[in-house]
Amino acid sequence: MGRKRTIVVVEDEDAIRRAIVDVLRAAGHEPVEAADGDTGLAEALRAGVDLVLLDLLLPKRDGFEVLDELRKAQPSRPVIILTARGSEDDRVRGLRGGADDYVVKPFSARELLARVDAVLRRSPERPRDVVSIRGGGTTVDCGRREICRGANERVPLSEMEANILLRLAAHAGRFVTREELLSAVWGIRDGAVETRAIDMHVTRLRQKLQRSEDGDLDWIVTVRGKGYMLGPELQVTTQPAAETPP
Ligand code: CA
Repeated sequence: MGRKRTIVVVEDEDAIRRAIVDVLRAAGHEPVEAADGDTGLAEALRAGVDLVLLDLLLPKRDGFEVLDELRKAQPSRPVIILTARGSEDDRVRGLRGGADDYVVKPFSARELLARVDAVLRRSPERPRDVVSIRGGGTTVDCGRREICRGANERVPLSEMEANILLRLAAHAGRFVTREELLSAVWGIRDGAVETRAIDMHVTRLRQKLQRSEDGDLDWIVTVRGKGYMLGPELQVTTQPAAETPP
């Protein structure tokens, strides 16, 4: 078993929800229950959530709406939809809407856990695993939170700067929204004003990282209207994933 994962279970049928929660808890995870779409969305948006199990037919706000809202704020948070047998349209719509996988009800504990483990394994939400980031003559030592150049030059990063950089590195190859950065780095969920703070930290990070000697090597790329992305030419070194026994 890897580290304990926080899994939000959004399901209005009490018996099914409780059964899922029991299975997840027995497997060493930390389930959070939600019996309707509004509560489900609120829980799914919280910082530190590793996976969301999402029923589609829900009171207050259906699963598609929850998925839609969640994707706007957290584009890469893993979601597995729980669908009824035979509803292929729902499955396709869910996957198109950004769900990572689906499980057809009724499912066995074994099947559910296999899907959960598979999605968690390929989940990139593991910022702590990034060891270093290198580009040009510059290396960021993520453990020490400092920029290293040559034998002597060391520039410290603030905690915020390091967290932003780690987050981008953990999602290398795709953009991360400002909202996601806020939620991940500060634990803030609704921050229309605070997103400007992200821009300020990014500006400072760029000043520390970019050097004229490295030509047009970008450390942080602005994706217009979307957010930020780690420069595609940078090399990210990660710790090998912990072994997960079958
Ligand atoms: Ca339902």
